Amino acid sequence: MLLAQDITSQIPLVSSTRAQRGSRSPLGSNTKSASPEGPRLGPPGLEGTAVRPEVQYSRTQIKPGSDELHLDRQRRFKLQETAGQLLPEFRVSFCGRRRRRAVDEIKIMKGDDGAAYASGVQRCGSVWVCEACSRRIAAARRLETITALAQWRSQGGHVSMMTLTLPHKREHKLKHVLLALSDCTSYLNSGKRALSALLKPYGYFGQIRALEVTNGLNGWHPHLHVLVLHRLPIPYGVQDVLKARWEAAAIRHHWAPPGWSVGLSWQDGTAAADYVNKSGTWGLAEEVSQSHLKQAGRGGRSPHQLLLAATLGDKKAGALFAEFGHAFKGKRQLFWSAGLKAHFGLGDVSDEEIADSEDAPVEAEPLAVIPADKWALVCKYRQRAELLRAAECDGDAQVTVDFMLSWLFDRHLESIRRVA
Ligand SMILES: [Zn+2]
Repeated sequence: MLLAQDITSQIPLVSSTRAQRGSRSPLGSNTKSASPEGPRLGPPGLEGTAVRPEVQYSRTQIKPGSDELHLDRQRRFKLQETAGQLLPEFRVSFCGRRRRRAVDEIKIMKGDDGAAYASGVQRCGSVWVCEACSRRIAAARRLETITALAQWRSQGGHVSMMTLTLPHKREHKLKHVLLALSDCTSYLNSGKRALSALLKPYGYFGQIRALEVTNGLNGWHPHLHVLVLHRLPIPYGVQDVLKARWEAAAIRHHWAPPGWSVGLSWQDGTAAADYVNKSGTWGLAEEVSQSHLKQAGRGGRSPHQLLLAATLGDKKAGALFAEFGHAFKGKRQLFWSAGLKAHFGLGDVSDEEIADSEDAPVEAEPLAVIPADKWALVCKYRQRAELLRAAECDGDAQVTVDFMLSWLFDRHLESIRRVA
């Protein structure tokens, strides 16, 4: 039998075409991701030559209608419902269930990968607390990062990975550690000795920052993975300068006294490039775009693991997940330097737009159509996974779905009679 955790590593997060097409919400420009630091990237030189390379990566397919997909859906919906119970004022509490305004029927559509999904429902677009939306968003972000890194390397550029951490204690509130991390990062990236200025002699070109958090014996551990793009190799001594600057940031913001070990680790271009070149499924692109979904190591737990534990009845894990949800609300998971996406020919689309994008073309025929009141019953009795599986059956999906809906309606009437 497949355990839920095992299934997670096997499922396709989302197809590349889904991430790219977004039929309802084409990739547009979103200046929110622009950071003030770093050079404005213009068209001259390499900048004008960007041609999007064919991006290939391996992913495991799960057959539509299969037990594996059904189990994964059940688990995903269950985690989503738990998150909604822990954070009732968040949009995750109705994500994938509440119908859109002016929609009076839910359409069950066939996605790019052949799997059925519900169209006409609201999506929360949370990369942090929603099990369904975060997968879709992470897959799109992964593709963007892979595209950018592949282009940068084809242009002869270097990529280094910097990880930024701060010391913390069990009694620290997450929002306080997070604020300190944010303040120190701003310090590192501003002023005459900003990271971009220090690395200018080495052709600093921009950075992609990814925010991640785990919870362990020493409490909350928010940290940043930063991909630094530069044209020339960076000598080892420069790392010491950056470490000193990070330490100064922690002291300046009263987070660590002088002499404390604050964390700035640096993987130089060669090591990072090897990481990029790995033929496996986890590389630099995954490290920044999907690290918030992975299992934490060294005894710590990721928010995903906390949610899983909460679903199994761990109240403490549930409280920690709720604290995480509030602290991370509105925080960006990925942050690109100004102009970086444009340089690589990438549009800038919000998490909400990705979550809202549809697999199926607008003109596609639905597998089945469900009136809004029947859909409400499907959600009330937590039958979404079962309904989607029914729609993936061989034969007439509408007939199978209608049969299931009539069974559900009977069950509903029976429960009303019992109460009466
Ligand atoms: Zn959602």
